[in-house]
Amino acid sequence: MLYQSTRGGAARITAAEAIAKGLSEDGGLFVPESFPGLTPDAVKNLTSMPYAGKAAYILGLFLEEFSTDELRDYSAQAYGGAAFDHPEVAPLRKLNNNTYSLELWHGPTSAFKDMALQILPRLLPASLKKINEKREVCVLAATSGDTGKAALEGFRDIPGTKIMVFYPKDGVSEVQKLQMTSQSGGNVNVVAVDGNFDDTQSGVKAIFSDGDLRGELGNNGCFLSSANSINWGRLAPQIAYYVSAYCDLLSSGGIKPGEEVNFCVPTGNFGNILAAYYAALLGLPVNKLICASNRNDVLTQFINTGVYDKNRAFYTTVSPSMDILVSSNLERLLFEVSGKDGGVVSGYMKALSSSGVYEISQSVRAEINRIFAGGVCAEDETLKTIAGVYDRFGYLIDTHTAVAFKVMEDYRAASNDARPCVVVSTASPFKFCDSVIDALGRPRMGLSGVGLIGLLADVTGCDVPAPLSELSGKTPRFTGSVRPDGMKQAVREFMLKG
Ligand SMILES: *Cc1c(COP(=O)(O)O)cnc(C)c1O
Repeated sequence: MLYQSTRGGAARITAAEAIAKGLSEDGGLFVPESFPGLTPDAVKNLTSMPYAGKAAYILGLFLEEFSTDELRDYSAQAYGGAAFDHPEVAPLRKLNNNTYSLELWHGPTSAFKDMALQILPRLLPASLKKINEKREVCVLAATSGDTGKAALEGFRDIPGTKIMVFYPKDGVSEVQKLQMTSQSGGNVNVVAVDGNFDDTQSGVKAIFSDGDLRGELGNNGCFLSSANSINWGRLAPQIAYYVSAYCDLLSSGGIKPGEEVNFCVPTGNFGNILAAYYAALLGLPVNKLICASNRNDVLTQFINTGVYDKNRAFYTTVSPSMDILVSSNLERLLFEVSGKDGGVVSGYMKALSSSGVYEISQSVRAEINRIFAGGVCAEDETLKTIAGVYDRFGYLIDTHTAVAFKVMEDYRAASNDARPCVVVSTASPFKFCDSVIDALGRPRMGLSGVGLIGLLADVTGCDVPAPLSELSGKTPRFTGSVRPDGMKQAVREFMLKG
Protein backbone atom coordinates (compact mmCIF):
# COMPACT_ATOMS: atom_id res chain seq x y z
CA MET A 1 0.00 0.00 0.00
CA LEU A 2 1.31 3.42 -0.93
CA TYR A 3 0.81 6.85 0.59
CA GLN A 4 0.02 10.12 -1.12
CA SER A 5 0.06 13.75 -0.07
CA THR A 6 -3.21 15.50 0.80
CA ARG A 7 -2.12 18.31 -1.54
CA GLY A 8 -1.55 16.03 -4.48
CA GLY A 9 1.83 17.48 -5.42
CA ALA A 10 4.21 14.71 -4.44
CA ALA A 11 5.06 11.19 -5.60
CA ARG A 12 3.46 8.15 -3.97
CA ILE A 13 5.67 6.64 -1.31
CA THR A 14 5.82 3.64 1.02
CA ALA A 15 4.69 3.62 4.66
CA ALA A 16 8.32 3.61 5.82
CA GLU A 17 9.04 6.74 3.77
CA ALA A 18 5.88 8.42 5.04
CA ILE A 19 6.84 7.71 8.66
CA ALA A 20 10.44 8.81 8.10
CA LYS A 21 9.43 12.07 6.41
CA GLY A 22 6.47 13.04 8.61
CA LEU A 23 5.34 15.88 6.36
CA SER A 24 5.24 15.91 2.55
CA GLU A 25 7.44 18.35 0.56
CA ASP A 26 4.35 20.04 -0.86
CA GLY A 27 3.25 20.90 2.69
CA GLY A 28 0.57 18.20 2.73
CA LEU A 29 0.12 15.22 5.03
CA PHE A 30 0.57 11.60 4.01
CA VAL A 31 -2.55 9.47 3.70
CA PRO A 32 -3.02 5.83 2.69
CA GLU A 33 -4.29 5.39 -0.86
CA SER A 34 -7.01 3.02 0.29
CA PHE A 35 -8.49 1.46 3.42
CA PRO A 36 -8.30 -2.32 3.48
CA GLY A 37 -11.49 -3.86 4.80
CA LEU A 38 -11.88 -4.96 8.39
CA THR A 39 -14.38 -7.79 8.06
CA PRO A 40 -16.81 -8.79 10.83
CA ASP A 41 -14.90 -12.08 11.08
CA ALA A 42 -11.61 -10.25 11.58
CA VAL A 43 -13.19 -8.17 14.36
CA LYS A 44 -14.47 -11.35 15.96
CA ASN A 45 -11.00 -12.92 15.83
CA LEU A 46 -9.43 -9.84 17.39
CA THR A 47 -11.83 -9.98 20.32
CA SER A 48 -9.89 -12.76 22.02
CA MET A 49 -6.45 -11.18 21.53
CA PRO A 50 -4.57 -9.04 24.03
CA TYR A 51 -4.22 -5.37 23.11
CA ALA A 52 -0.72 -5.84 21.65
CA GLY A 53 -2.07 -8.47 19.24
CA LYS A 54 -4.88 -6.21 18.09
CA ALA A 55 -2.45 -3.34 17.54
CA ALA A 56 -0.08 -5.52 15.52
CA TYR A 57 -2.97 -6.66 13.32
CA ILE A 58 -4.27 -3.15 12.64
CA LEU A 59 -0.76 -1.81 11.95
CA GLY A 60 -0.22 -4.71 9.56
CA LEU A 61 -3.13 -3.48 7.44
CA PHE A 62 -1.30 -0.21 6.79
CA LEU A 63 2.44 -0.87 7.10
CA GLU A 64 3.06 -3.30 4.27
CA GLU A 65 6.85 -3.36 4.34
CA PHE A 66 6.89 -4.36 8.00
CA SER A 67 6.75 -8.11 8.60
CA THR A 68 4.14 -9.62 10.90
CA ASP A 69 6.89 -10.68 13.32
CA GLU A 70 8.36 -7.20 13.35
CA LEU A 71 5.00 -5.57 14.16
CA ARG A 72 4.19 -8.17 16.82
CA ASP A 73 7.57 -7.50 18.36
CA TYR A 74 7.15 -3.69 18.44
CA SER A 75 3.58 -3.98 19.73
CA ALA A 76 4.65 -6.36 22.47
CA GLN A 77 7.46 -3.98 23.50
CA ALA A 78 5.11 -0.99 23.50
CA TYR A 79 1.95 -2.48 25.01
CA GLY A 80 2.92 -5.83 26.51
CA GLY A 81 5.46 -4.75 29.12
CA ALA A 82 5.34 -2.58 32.20
CA ALA A 83 4.79 0.80 30.51
CA PHE A 84 1.02 0.57 30.95
CA ASP A 85 -0.34 0.10 34.45
CA HIS A 86 -3.50 -1.73 33.32
CA PRO A 87 -3.38 -5.25 31.84
CA GLU A 88 -5.95 -4.33 29.20
CA VAL A 89 -3.86 -1.25 28.18
CA ALA A 90 -6.97 0.66 26.99
CA PRO A 91 -9.76 -0.57 29.29
CA LEU A 92 -13.40 0.24 28.55
CA ARG A 93 -15.38 1.30 31.64
CA LYS A 94 -19.13 0.82 31.60
CA LEU A 95 -20.97 3.68 33.33
CA ASN A 96 -24.55 2.77 32.43
CA ASN A 97 -26.30 0.69 29.79
CA ASN A 98 -25.30 2.93 26.89
CA THR A 99 -22.43 5.05 28.22
CA TYR A 100 -18.82 3.90 28.29
CA SER A 101 -15.46 5.51 28.98
CA LEU A 102 -12.43 4.39 26.98
CA GLU A 103 -9.48 5.00 29.32
CA LEU A 104 -6.45 5.89 27.23
CA TRP A 105 -4.32 7.19 30.07
CA HIS A 106 -2.75 4.13 31.64
CA GLY A 107 0.65 4.76 30.01
CA PRO A 108 3.80 6.38 31.44
CA THR A 109 2.62 10.00 31.05
CA SER A 110 -1.04 9.51 32.05
CA ALA A 111 -2.48 10.87 28.79
CA PHE A 112 -3.60 9.23 25.56
CA LYS A 113 -0.54 10.35 23.58
CA ASP A 114 1.30 7.35 25.05
CA MET A 115 -0.90 5.03 22.99
CA ALA A 116 0.99 6.15 19.87
CA LEU A 117 4.23 7.45 21.33
CA GLN A 118 5.21 4.22 23.00
CA ILE A 119 5.36 2.56 19.59
CA LEU A 120 6.45 5.41 17.26
CA PRO A 121 10.05 5.37 18.58
CA ARG A 122 10.21 1.74 17.43
CA LEU A 123 8.56 2.37 14.05
CA LEU A 124 10.66 5.43 13.23
CA PRO A 125 14.22 4.05 13.39
CA ALA A 126 12.95 0.88 11.66
CA SER A 127 11.45 3.03 8.89
CA LEU A 128 14.75 4.87 8.40
CA LYS A 129 16.54 1.56 8.09
CA LYS A 130 14.07 0.38 5.46
CA ILE A 131 14.71 3.43 3.30
CA ASN A 132 18.47 3.11 3.74
CA GLU A 133 18.79 6.31 5.72
CA LYS A 134 21.85 6.17 7.96
CA ARG A 135 21.69 9.58 9.59
CA GLU A 136 20.56 10.03 13.18
CA VAL A 137 16.83 10.55 13.82
CA CYS A 138 16.41 14.11 15.13
CA VAL A 139 12.86 14.45 16.40
CA LEU A 140 11.37 17.89 16.71
CA ALA A 141 7.97 18.39 18.34
CA ALA A 142 5.62 21.19 19.31
CA THR A 143 3.35 20.33 22.19
CA SER A 144 0.25 21.70 23.85
CA GLY A 145 1.26 19.69 26.90
CA ASP A 146 0.82 15.96 26.57
CA THR A 147 2.58 15.15 23.30
CA GLY A 148 5.88 16.54 24.48
CA LYS A 149 6.17 14.42 27.58
CA ALA A 150 4.91 11.33 25.82
CA ALA A 151 7.43 11.81 22.99
CA LEU A 152 10.26 12.43 25.46
CA GLU A 153 9.38 9.25 27.35
CA GLY A 154 9.11 7.27 24.14
CA PHE A 155 12.42 8.40 22.62
CA ARG A 156 14.43 8.74 25.84
CA ASP A 157 17.81 7.01 25.36
CA ILE A 158 16.76 5.19 22.18
CA PRO A 159 20.09 4.77 20.34
CA GLY A 160 20.45 6.76 17.11
CA THR A 161 17.82 9.32 18.12
CA LYS A 162 17.70 12.83 19.60
CA ILE A 163 14.56 14.65 20.64
CA MET A 164 13.78 18.33 21.16
CA VAL A 165 10.42 19.54 22.45
CA PHE A 166 9.00 23.08 22.39
CA TYR A 167 6.01 23.99 24.56
CA PRO A 168 4.04 27.26 24.96
CA LYS A 169 5.24 28.84 28.21
CA ASP A 170 1.82 29.61 29.68
CA GLY A 171 -0.20 27.06 27.75
CA VAL A 172 0.41 23.89 29.77
CA SER A 173 -0.54 22.83 33.29
CA GLU A 174 1.95 22.95 36.15
CA VAL A 175 2.04 19.17 36.26
CA GLN A 176 2.63 18.94 32.51
CA LYS A 177 5.40 21.51 32.75
CA LEU A 178 7.24 19.68 35.54
CA GLN A 179 6.77 16.36 33.74
CA MET A 180 8.67 17.82 30.79
CA THR A 181 11.24 20.01 32.50
CA SER A 182 12.31 17.14 34.76
CA GLN A 183 12.70 14.69 31.86
CA SER A 184 15.62 12.28 32.16
CA GLY A 185 17.73 10.93 29.31
CA GLY A 186 20.94 11.84 27.50
CA ASN A 187 19.36 12.59 24.10
CA VAL A 188 16.58 15.00 25.13
CA ASN A 189 16.02 18.77 25.22
CA VAL A 190 13.01 20.82 26.33
CA VAL A 191 12.50 24.54 25.60
CA ALA A 192 9.66 26.92 26.52
CA VAL A 193 8.36 29.34 23.86
CA ASP A 194 7.05 32.83 24.66
CA GLY A 195 3.79 32.38 22.79
CA ASN A 196 0.73 30.13 22.51
CA PHE A 197 0.48 26.66 21.00
CA ASP A 198 -0.15 27.93 17.50
CA ASP A 199 2.98 30.11 17.63
CA THR A 200 4.88 27.06 18.83
CA GLN A 201 3.46 24.74 16.18
CA SER A 202 3.99 27.34 13.42
CA GLY A 203 7.61 27.71 14.55
CA VAL A 204 8.20 23.97 14.25
CA LYS A 205 6.44 23.84 10.88
CA ALA A 206 8.65 26.69 9.66
CA ILE A 207 11.75 24.77 10.69
CA PHE A 208 10.56 21.70 8.80
CA SER A 209 10.04 23.74 5.65
CA ASP A 210 13.31 25.69 5.92
CA GLY A 211 15.47 24.15 3.21
CA ASP A 212 18.67 25.87 4.34
CA LEU A 213 18.38 24.69 7.92
CA ARG A 214 17.41 21.18 6.86
CA GLY A 215 20.42 21.11 4.57
CA GLU A 216 22.75 22.31 7.30
CA LEU A 217 21.42 19.70 9.74
CA GLY A 218 21.42 17.00 7.07
CA ASN A 219 25.07 17.62 6.19
CA ASN A 220 25.88 17.16 9.84
CA GLY A 221 24.29 13.72 10.08
CA CYS A 222 20.91 14.86 11.39
CA PHE A 223 17.70 13.59 9.77
CA LEU A 224 14.89 15.87 10.92
CA SER A 225 11.73 14.01 11.84
CA SER A 226 8.40 14.77 13.46
CA ALA A 227 6.62 13.24 16.45
CA ASN A 228 3.55 15.46 16.06
CA SER A 229 0.23 13.87 15.25
CA ILE A 230 0.75 14.76 11.60
CA ASN A 231 3.11 11.76 11.39
CA TRP A 232 1.45 8.67 9.98
CA GLY A 233 3.34 6.61 12.56
CA ARG A 234 1.35 8.41 15.26
CA LEU A 235 -2.04 8.02 13.63
CA ALA A 236 -1.95 4.39 12.59
CA PRO A 237 -1.51 3.03 16.15
CA GLN A 238 -4.46 5.15 17.32
CA ILE A 239 -6.85 3.29 15.02
CA ALA A 240 -6.24 0.17 17.11
CA TYR A 241 -7.94 1.40 20.28
CA TYR A 242 -11.19 2.17 18.49
CA VAL A 243 -11.24 -1.39 17.23
CA SER A 244 -10.30 -2.59 20.71
CA ALA A 245 -13.18 -0.63 22.28
CA TYR A 246 -15.58 -2.18 19.78
CA CYS A 247 -14.23 -5.66 20.57
CA ASP A 248 -14.72 -5.01 24.29
CA LEU A 249 -18.31 -3.89 23.70
CA LEU A 250 -18.91 -7.09 21.77
CA SER A 251 -17.38 -9.43 24.29
CA SER A 252 -19.17 -7.81 27.24
CA GLY A 253 -22.50 -8.20 25.43
CA GLY A 254 -22.97 -4.43 25.28
CA ILE A 255 -23.61 -4.68 21.54
CA LYS A 256 -24.41 -7.34 18.94
CA PRO A 257 -22.05 -8.04 16.01
CA GLY A 258 -22.44 -5.33 13.38
CA GLU A 259 -24.28 -2.95 15.72
CA GLU A 260 -23.35 0.70 15.25
CA VAL A 261 -21.88 2.76 18.08
CA ASN A 262 -20.99 6.41 18.61
CA PHE A 263 -17.69 7.81 19.81
CA CYS A 264 -17.35 11.20 21.45
CA VAL A 265 -13.81 12.57 21.34
CA PRO A 266 -12.33 15.63 23.09
CA THR A 267 -10.59 17.23 20.15
CA GLY A 268 -7.68 19.59 19.54
CA ASN A 269 -5.42 18.83 16.60
CA PHE A 270 -8.01 16.40 15.17
CA GLY A 271 -5.67 13.38 15.35
CA ASN A 272 -7.57 11.23 17.83
CA ILE A 273 -10.97 11.63 16.19
CA LEU A 274 -9.42 11.19 12.73
CA ALA A 275 -8.18 7.77 13.84
CA ALA A 276 -11.81 6.96 14.72
CA TYR A 277 -12.85 8.07 11.25
CA TYR A 278 -10.19 5.83 9.72
CA ALA A 279 -11.49 2.94 11.84
CA ALA A 280 -14.93 3.64 10.37
CA LEU A 281 -13.46 3.71 6.83
CA LEU A 282 -11.94 0.30 7.58
CA GLY A 283 -15.45 -0.92 8.24
CA LEU A 284 -15.87 -0.61 12.01
CA PRO A 285 -19.62 -0.08 12.56
CA VAL A 286 -19.76 3.58 13.58
CA ASN A 287 -22.84 5.80 13.45
CA LYS A 288 -21.60 9.19 14.65
CA LEU A 289 -18.27 10.63 15.63
CA ILE A 290 -18.95 13.49 17.97
CA CYS A 291 -16.24 16.13 17.96
CA ALA A 292 -16.11 17.86 21.35
CA SER A 293 -14.55 21.34 21.59
CA ASN A 294 -13.76 23.55 24.55
CA ARG A 295 -14.16 27.32 24.34
CA ASN A 296 -11.75 27.28 21.36
CA ASP A 297 -14.55 25.95 19.18
CA VAL A 298 -13.17 26.47 15.68
CA LEU A 299 -13.79 22.81 14.77
CA THR A 300 -17.36 22.70 16.03
CA GLN A 301 -18.12 25.88 14.12
CA PHE A 302 -16.61 24.29 11.06
CA ILE A 303 -18.65 21.10 11.37
CA ASN A 304 -21.82 23.10 11.94
CA THR A 305 -21.32 25.81 9.28
CA GLY A 306 -18.77 24.57 6.73
CA VAL A 307 -16.61 27.64 7.39
CA TYR A 308 -13.20 27.25 9.02
CA ASP A 309 -12.20 30.61 10.47
CA LYS A 310 -9.12 30.90 12.62
CA ASN A 311 -9.47 34.69 12.95
CA ARG A 312 -10.79 34.59 16.46
CA ALA A 313 -9.69 35.07 20.03
CA PHE A 314 -7.50 32.35 21.47
CA TYR A 315 -8.50 31.25 24.98
CA THR A 316 -6.41 29.51 27.60
CA THR A 317 -8.78 26.98 29.15
CA VAL A 318 -8.91 24.30 31.85
CA SER A 319 -8.47 21.73 29.05
CA PRO A 320 -5.20 23.10 27.60
CA SER A 321 -4.41 20.14 25.34
CA MET A 322 -7.38 21.24 23.22
CA ASP A 323 -6.43 24.92 23.02
CA ILE A 324 -5.81 25.08 19.29
CA LEU A 325 -6.90 27.33 16.44
CA VAL A 326 -5.44 25.38 13.53
CA SER A 327 -6.16 21.65 13.69
CA SER A 328 -3.55 20.14 11.38
CA ASN A 329 -5.10 16.73 10.93
CA LEU A 330 -8.37 18.15 9.64
CA GLU A 331 -6.58 18.35 6.30
CA ARG A 332 -6.66 14.55 6.11
CA LEU A 333 -10.44 14.51 6.59
CA LEU A 334 -10.83 17.20 3.92
CA PHE A 335 -8.90 15.00 1.54
CA GLU A 336 -11.20 12.00 2.04
CA VAL A 337 -14.46 13.94 1.92
CA SER A 338 -13.49 15.94 -1.16
CA GLY A 339 -13.00 12.78 -3.21
CA LYS A 340 -9.22 12.59 -2.61
CA ASP A 341 -8.72 15.77 -4.61
CA GLY A 342 -5.36 17.29 -3.69
CA GLY A 343 -6.10 20.42 -5.70
CA VAL A 344 -9.23 21.16 -3.67
CA VAL A 345 -7.38 20.62 -0.38
CA SER A 346 -4.49 22.80 -1.57
CA GLY A 347 -6.99 25.56 -2.30
CA TYR A 348 -8.47 25.38 1.20
CA MET A 349 -5.02 25.41 2.80
CA LYS A 350 -3.85 28.35 0.68
CA ALA A 351 -6.91 30.32 1.73
CA LEU A 352 -6.28 29.36 5.35
CA SER A 353 -2.72 30.63 5.28
CA SER A 354 -3.46 33.83 3.36
CA SER A 355 -6.75 34.95 4.95
CA GLY A 356 -7.23 32.52 7.84
CA VAL A 357 -10.55 31.34 6.41
CA TYR A 358 -11.90 28.77 3.98
CA GLU A 359 -15.37 27.51 3.19
CA ILE A 360 -16.10 24.02 1.93
CA SER A 361 -18.72 23.21 -0.68
CA GLN A 362 -22.22 22.00 0.23
CA SER A 363 -21.50 18.48 -0.98
CA VAL A 364 -18.28 18.21 1.04
CA ARG A 365 -20.09 19.53 4.08
CA ALA A 366 -22.90 17.00 3.63
CA GLU A 367 -20.29 14.24 3.52
CA ILE A 368 -18.76 15.46 6.79
CA ASN A 369 -22.13 15.77 8.51
CA ARG A 370 -23.07 12.25 7.48
CA ILE A 371 -20.69 10.96 10.16
CA PHE A 372 -19.52 13.94 12.26
CA ALA A 373 -21.43 15.95 14.82
CA GLY A 374 -19.86 18.73 16.87
CA GLY A 375 -20.48 20.47 20.16
CA VAL A 376 -18.92 22.95 22.58
CA CYS A 377 -18.48 22.82 26.33
CA ALA A 378 -17.95 26.10 28.17
CA GLU A 379 -15.44 26.45 31.02
CA ASP A 380 -17.98 26.40 33.88
CA GLU A 381 -19.77 23.45 32.27
CA THR A 382 -16.49 21.52 32.18
CA LEU A 383 -16.16 21.79 35.96
CA LYS A 384 -19.88 21.08 36.52
CA THR A 385 -19.59 17.95 34.40
CA ILE A 386 -16.66 16.62 36.45
CA ALA A 387 -18.79 17.02 39.58
CA GLY A 388 -21.88 15.59 37.88
CA VAL A 389 -20.15 12.47 36.55
CA TYR A 390 -18.49 11.93 39.93
CA ASP A 391 -21.83 12.21 41.75
CA ARG A 392 -23.76 10.01 39.34
CA PHE A 393 -21.23 7.27 38.65
CA GLY A 394 -18.56 7.65 41.36
CA TYR A 395 -16.21 8.07 38.41
CA LEU A 396 -13.48 10.72 38.39
CA ILE A 397 -12.63 12.33 35.04
CA ASP A 398 -10.21 15.02 33.91
CA THR A 399 -11.12 18.32 32.24
CA HIS A 400 -10.67 17.07 28.64
CA THR A 401 -12.81 14.00 29.19
CA ALA A 402 -15.40 16.26 30.85
CA VAL A 403 -15.69 18.35 27.68
CA ALA A 404 -16.55 15.16 25.78
CA PHE A 405 -19.06 14.01 28.41
CA LYS A 406 -20.97 17.27 28.27
CA VAL A 407 -20.98 17.38 24.49
CA MET A 408 -22.20 13.76 24.37
CA GLU A 409 -25.06 14.63 26.74
CA ASP A 410 -26.02 17.63 24.61
CA TYR A 411 -25.87 15.50 21.48
CA ARG A 412 -28.15 12.88 23.01
CA ALA A 413 -30.64 15.47 24.16
CA ALA A 414 -30.73 17.14 20.74
CA SER A 415 -30.77 14.00 18.59
CA ASN A 416 -32.61 11.32 20.59
CA ASP A 417 -29.79 9.01 19.46
CA ALA A 418 -29.49 6.56 22.36
CA ARG A 419 -26.99 4.21 20.69
CA PRO A 420 -24.13 3.01 22.88
CA CYS A 421 -21.65 5.86 23.10
CA VAL A 422 -18.00 5.58 24.02
CA VAL A 423 -16.56 8.74 25.54
CA VAL A 424 -12.86 8.81 24.83
CA SER A 425 -11.07 9.58 28.10
CA THR A 426 -7.78 11.21 27.21
CA ALA A 427 -6.05 12.02 30.50
CA SER A 428 -5.90 10.94 34.12
CA PRO A 429 -7.74 13.38 36.41
CA PHE A 430 -4.53 13.58 38.46
CA LYS A 431 -2.84 15.37 35.58
CA PHE A 432 -5.20 18.33 36.00
CA CYS A 433 -5.64 18.37 39.78
CA ASP A 434 -6.22 22.11 40.18
CA SER A 435 -9.34 22.14 38.05
CA VAL A 436 -10.59 18.78 39.31
CA ILE A 437 -10.29 19.88 42.96
CA ASP A 438 -12.14 23.12 42.07
CA ALA A 439 -14.81 21.11 40.27
CA LEU A 440 -15.41 18.94 43.34
CA GLY A 441 -15.90 22.11 45.38
CA ARG A 442 -12.90 21.43 47.62
CA PRO A 443 -10.54 24.17 48.79
CA ARG A 444 -7.03 23.96 47.33
CA MET A 445 -5.55 24.47 50.81
CA GLY A 446 -2.95 26.85 49.38
CA LEU A 447 -1.55 24.09 47.19
CA SER A 448 -1.20 23.90 43.40
CA GLY A 449 -0.06 21.55 40.66
CA VAL A 450 1.92 18.59 41.90
CA GLY A 451 1.14 19.59 45.49
CA LEU A 452 -2.53 18.82 44.88
CA ILE A 453 -2.07 15.23 43.71
CA GLY A 454 -2.09 13.84 47.25
CA LEU A 455 -5.05 15.98 48.25
CA LEU A 456 -7.13 14.77 45.28
CA ALA A 457 -6.26 11.18 46.16
CA ASP A 458 -7.35 11.75 49.78
CA VAL A 459 -10.60 13.43 48.78
CA THR A 460 -11.62 10.77 46.24
CA GLY A 461 -9.84 7.59 47.34
CA CYS A 462 -8.69 7.11 43.72
CA ASP A 463 -5.23 5.67 42.97
CA VAL A 464 -2.58 8.06 41.69
CA PRO A 465 -0.66 6.78 38.63
CA ALA A 466 2.90 6.03 39.81
CA PRO A 467 4.74 8.43 37.43
CA LEU A 468 2.61 11.30 38.77
CA SER A 469 3.04 10.42 42.43
CA GLU A 470 6.81 10.32 41.88
CA LEU A 471 6.84 13.84 40.40
CA SER A 472 6.73 15.69 43.71
CA GLY A 473 10.38 14.98 44.49
CA LYS A 474 11.65 16.17 41.11
CA THR A 475 13.40 19.43 40.23
CA PRO A 476 13.33 21.07 36.79
CA ARG A 477 16.30 20.24 34.62
CA PHE A 478 15.35 22.34 31.55
CA THR A 479 14.60 25.98 32.39
CA GLY A 480 15.40 27.83 29.14
CA SER A 481 12.92 29.74 26.99
CA VAL A 482 13.00 31.41 23.56
CA ARG A 483 10.81 33.76 21.54
CA PRO A 484 9.17 32.17 18.48
CA ASP A 485 11.84 33.75 16.26
CA GLY A 486 14.56 32.12 18.35
CA MET A 487 13.39 28.55 17.80
CA LYS A 488 15.58 27.89 14.74
CA GLN A 489 18.73 28.90 16.55
CA ALA A 490 17.82 26.70 19.53
CA VAL A 491 17.37 23.71 17.20
CA ARG A 492 20.72 24.41 15.53
CA GLU A 493 22.49 24.57 18.87
CA PHE A 494 21.04 21.34 20.24
CA MET A 495 21.01 19.18 17.12
CA LEU A 496 24.51 20.14 15.99
CA LYS A 497 26.27 19.76 19.31
CA GLY A 498 28.39 16.63 19.94
C1 LIG B 1 -3.78 15.84 22.74
C2 LIG B 1 -4.95 15.77 23.65
C3 LIG B 1 -6.25 15.99 23.19
C4 LIG B 1 -6.54 16.37 21.76
O1 LIG B 1 -6.26 15.32 20.87
P1 LIG B 1 -6.09 15.62 19.31
O2 LIG B 1 -5.63 14.34 18.73
O3 LIG B 1 -5.06 16.70 19.21
O4 LIG B 1 -7.41 16.06 18.81
C5 LIG B 1 -7.29 15.83 24.09
N1 LIG B 1 -7.06 15.53 25.38
C6 LIG B 1 -5.83 15.33 25.85
C7 LIG B 1 -5.64 15.03 27.29
C8 LIG B 1 -4.73 15.43 25.02
O5 LIG B 1 -3.50 15.24 25.49
